[in-house]
Amino acid sequence: MKLSAGLCKTSPEAPKGNVFNIQRFSLHDGPGIRSVVFFQGCHMRCAWCCNPESWAQARGASTQSAITLDAVREEVARDMPYYLVSGGGVTLSGGEVMLQAPFARALLESLSAEGIHTAIETAGFAPWSVVKKVATACDLVLYDLKLADDVLHQTYTGVSNVIILRNLERLLELNIALQIRIPVIPGINDTPDEVNKMMGLISRLTANRPEFQGVCLLPYHPFGVHKYQQSGLTYPLFMHRKKSQEARLDRFTEAAKSLGITISTSGVIGA
Ligand code: SF4
Repeated sequence: MKLSAGLCKTSPEAPKGNVFNIQRFSLHDGPGIRSVVFFQGCHMRCAWCCNPESWAQARGASTQSAITLDAVREEVARDMPYYLVSGGGVTLSGGEVMLQAPFARALLESLSAEGIHTAIETAGFAPWSVVKKVATACDLVLYDLKLADDVLHQTYTGVSNVIILRNLERLLELNIALQIRIPVIPGINDTPDEVNKMMGLISRLTANRPEFQGVCLLPYHPFGVHKYQQSGLTYPLFMHRKKSQEARLDRFTEAAKSLGITISTSGVIGA
């Protein structure tokens, strides 16, 4: 594939990856106008996931469906002028970026070499060595937190949050620029008890961490429901009932105010 003018071609040995979408002109996945590269594969099963098509495991870098680094770079480089005027860049999301760590790191390094601001969005459910390897190659980490209570976390995401919280703590210790993102799901993590636990936890973990930028709230929306049918999956019955409920963002903003934590309901810190 031919690269856009100005991009240096990577070596033929560069890792390939499985990506299920590249979305241009995103305004809610980090600062400025961004392109979002959605990685295939996730070990979690959040009941409200709006990208269930990402769940199937990456099919392996040697398969025909794998995409090269240069193909991704060529696609995202088309919007370089927008990144420059808006302070934007490229965000790797998913699925779970950490499941394709060699490809993610190589892509981040090559985008950084071109002067493009890079971010990753991760749920942090991966071994620390993997999380560190990817997170230290980007400019900003968008770290998703779902629930503080581990029993509830297992119920609604299918996995424990112990490793997720430990990885968050370690990233904060490394002083990497980091924002926490919370999908606010009515009746699941916006109860007074869970909000207090979540915000108390964030307050403790982020105290005296100057690179922590704040919390972004992402109110639940059922936009991804049709994808379940398309993927041959069943949208959980109890989630159907959430469609008409309003997420209680106010509980998070009040708690954040009392704890002195920067919080955003617009999807972007500082907007
Ligand atoms: S971690 Fe993200 S991609 Fe994975 S199931 Fe949860 S919401 Fe979906």
